[in-house]
Amino acid sequence: MQITDTAKVHCPYCDALQTVVLDPSEPEQEYTEDCQVCCQPMVLTVHFEPMHTPYVVARREDDVHSPGD
Ligand SMILES: [Zn+2]
Repeated sequence: MQITDTAKVHCPYCDALQTVVLDPSEPEQEYTEDCQVCCQPMVLTVHFEPMHTPYVVARREDDVHSPGD
């Protein structure tokens, strides 16, 4: 049975709170999803931990590249 989960994140561009649908089949994920309000590409980093609320962070796409890499 496929279980889907959801989390609430603040858009890093417009700060709108929105619900994203998560796929718990992978314990660690990073993917891009457009903000439902301003349509900017949010980079979502997701960690699933058993018995815990999924950990989700949304970043701006241009923050992904770390300095000094
Ligand atoms: Zn937004």
